[in-house]
Amino acid sequence: MAVLTAYDAIVIGAGFAGLSAATRLTRDGARVLVLEARARLGGRATAFADRETGELVDNGQHVLTGGYTETFAFLREIGAIDHVRVQPQLRVTMIDRSGRRTRLDCPDLPAPLHLLAGVLDWEALGWADRLSVLKMAGPMRTARRALRPGSHQLAASPGETVENWLIRNGQTARLRELLWEPLAHRIPAFERLRVTSAWAGHYEVCTLDHNGVIGPHPELGNLLFATGFSGHGVQHAPATGRGIAELIRSGQYETLDLTPLGYARIRDNQPMPELVVY
Ligand SMILES: Cc1cc2nc3c(=O)[nH]c(=O)nc-3n(C[C@H](O)[C@H](O)[C@H](O)COP(=O)(O)OP(=O)(O)OC[C@H]3O[C@@H](n4cnc5c(N)ncnc54)[C@H](O)[C@@H]3O)c2cc1C
Repeated sequence: MAVLTAYDAIVIGAGFAGLSAATRLTRDGARVLVLEARARLGGRATAFADRETGELVDNGQHVLTGGYTETFAFLREIGAIDHVRVQPQLRVTMIDRSGRRTRLDCPDLPAPLHLLAGVLDWEALGWADRLSVLKMAGPMRTARRALRPGSHQLAASPGETVENWLIRNGQTARLRELLWEPLAHRIPAFERLRVTSAWAGHYEVCTLDHNGVIGPHPELGNLLFATGFSGHGVQHAPATGRGIAELIRSGQYETLDLTPLGYARIRDNQPMPELVVY
């Protein structure tokens, strides 16, 4: 006990959430003990050395977008930002059937304008092809709505193939060949792959609403949750760590009120659903 009281806070788990909270607290001068069950840091955002090749393999596709402000700030703070590969603009080199090489080069504009501008400027396409991409705005919006839980909307007619859907929505043969089919062609290629070894990782999901559980336990005030981030913890955990550090330091959230994500919504069965899940 004497050892434990030498700390202002004890963080259990050195994943993104725990490390973010610990980093903030120590920066503010607190004495923090981090307890981690495993021999490495990072929790579910980690990598391991392949037994046969020795190659470092990411445990999953952690995709960061420009909106992960707190994640980038956290990575900068711990000196890990150089390990993130940033593609400032979408650039894809394409070779058509005649061997002509062109590049889809999307300028630095807010999405989806960047893609639109890229396709409109893509010299592999004639003007009719370029303009046909504009016709996809409506169908894509419908498809997004159809993916929402509880939606009764249909993105395509029952039994309709992707090709028919693209044709029905005005996509020219050239655009289908150069933009949409390369995506579809990648999938049969996977058929030829065979599993030689496998690694299983825990992909935890908050089944109530796909959101994290953040803040004090209702009966044990000095036990603070920062957990249950489902598939978006790399995005949410660094900001959560900041919030938890604020709570420990000053007894309240300072920069962002995380109360709605508290344990009370679980107890009271008041889900706050995260819709953008996959
Ligand atoms: C394949 C994959 C892809 C993903 N892609 C994305 C993505 O693109 N974008 C995104 O935002 N998120 C993504 N996520 C989710 C994200 O990785 C997690 O939500 C996030 O890493 C969770 O961080 P955490 O700190 O909350 O928990 P964890 O990373 O699970 O960390 C918890 C830590 O606590 C330790 N621990 C547990 N119990 C104890 C104990 N009793 N004592 C000591 N230590 C303990 C564990 O060993 C672990 O290291 C992905 C996850 C996976 C698996």
